[in-house]
Amino acid sequence: MVEKFDAIVVGAGPSGNSAAYTLAKAGLKVLQIERGEYSGSKNVQGAIMYADALEKIIPDFREDAPLERHVIEQRIWLLGDDSYIGTNYRSDSFNSEKPNRYTIIRSQFDRWFNEKVREAGALVICETTVTELLRDANGKVYGVRTDRVNGEVHADVVIMADGVNALLARRADFQKELPPENVALAVKEIHFIDPALIEQRFQVKDDEGVVIEIMGKVTGGMVGTAFLYTNKESLTIGIGCLISDFKEKGITPYKLLEDLKNHPVIKPLIEGGEVKEYAGHLIPEGGYKAVPQCYGDGWMVVGDAAHLNNAAHREGSNLAMTSGRFAAETVIELKKLGKAPVASNLALYKKKLDDSFVLKDLKKYRNLPGIMHMSPQFFGAYPDLLNGAAHDLFTVDGVDKKTKENKILKSFVKRRSVFGLMGDAFKLARAFR
Ligand code: FAD
Repeated sequence: MVEKFDAIVVGAGPSGNSAAYTLAKAGLKVLQIERGEYSGSKNVQGAIMYADALEKIIPDFREDAPLERHVIEQRIWLLGDDSYIGTNYRSDSFNSEKPNRYTIIRSQFDRWFNEKVREAGALVICETTVTELLRDANGKVYGVRTDRVNGEVHADVVIMADGVNALLARRADFQKELPPENVALAVKEIHFIDPALIEQRFQVKDDEGVVIEIMGKVTGGMVGTAFLYTNKESLTIGIGCLISDFKEKGITPYKLLEDLKNHPVIKPLIEGGEVKEYAGHLIPEGGYKAVPQCYGDGWMVVGDAAHLNNAAHREGSNLAMTSGRFAAETVIELKKLGKAPVASNLALYKKKLDDSFVLKDLKKYRNLPGIMHMSPQFFGAYPDLLNGAAHDLFTVDGVDKKTKENKILKSFVKRRSVFGLMGDAFKLARAFR
């Protein structure tokens, strides 16, 4: 006889682990299926992990989670050819007993999280791929088929936490193909390096860490960003751009990463490291307007599979964990009320997303992806102009400051025109308001 569960969770990334943990903790009969050898074996992230989202699921996670460094300083750099202009925010208050952000290594973190899922009582099966959703004559989902022999399993509800490609939802026609302008392809490397060098180069001690978000010259005029994060004994460096731009420009992600590593302000920070990991992955960057229908009769979709990613703030894992928790809490609440997990009742999940930072933030930036896609000047011309302006201002060469200001102003007008500058200011205001 085919085994039946209260819920099946497909995928063991942050969204799937959050859903499965929350359900199992509440005493539900849960099956979690992961195609990788173990949770985290296939997962890629920068990675900054946001404590708030995890704390709401596992309050005492700091006791044994594999955390790298807690972030005390955030830098945002716009790179020129051989320079950067940027801002740094560093605060000793981030050294509190409960720091707000940590760097992590996903293969270790996800494995730890999944162990918690097992301890909470869920049945976790790895090295198994879910190939399709099982649906009855009315289209209600009642289980999944896997690539195992006799691999059919049934459940009251299936939570799809299978990542950005959302193959299950697409195969079931719940979602459409992702347009290339809504997805970024990112590559990253982990460079192992003496921790003393990390402390010296980034001016940190003990488990303190620094994260740098990077824009500008290194994306070759494409819409994209790069990053450099400090771990305990390694540095993570990566870069990603929209797939549509990669296609159009014919540049490879690998070439961009090489250029980033060789940039004069980046190279001294990573020098002496040994590359031990190289990975590439997609990031859903279509924002609010790209969020698909995320529930239906017998199913919900969470995390990257539901396109829940805030590219403006490089937040993904927290949206994943929170949406996984919301999906699980929805199932738990319906079960308590004796209500079936049909679309009309599962709408509660969407309400939770709407009422939280998850969709409020994506809604706030709803115009950002479209505007950025049409405005490569924010990734090429402006970083260039700002670096040039800083260079002029900070070079003391006997030229009076008024003349310098006029030269800077002219350089902006020459590159973008007066109407162009006004239009760009308007676009920025629309994108971030
Ligand atoms: P995933 O982590 O992708 O997990 C999906 C899981 O489902 C995987 O384990 C996969 O093996 C499994 N799976 C897929 N299909 C099947 C199937 N058919 N059957 C069984 N199992 C299946 N976010 C941040 O918050 N901070 C960052 O610093 C950050 N940096 C990033 C840097 C890079 C380079 C990238 C690519 C992403 C970054 N993100 C970051 C985003 C973040 O990684 C994602 O938002 C997050 O991983 C989404 O979690 P998820 O559980 O929804 O999906």
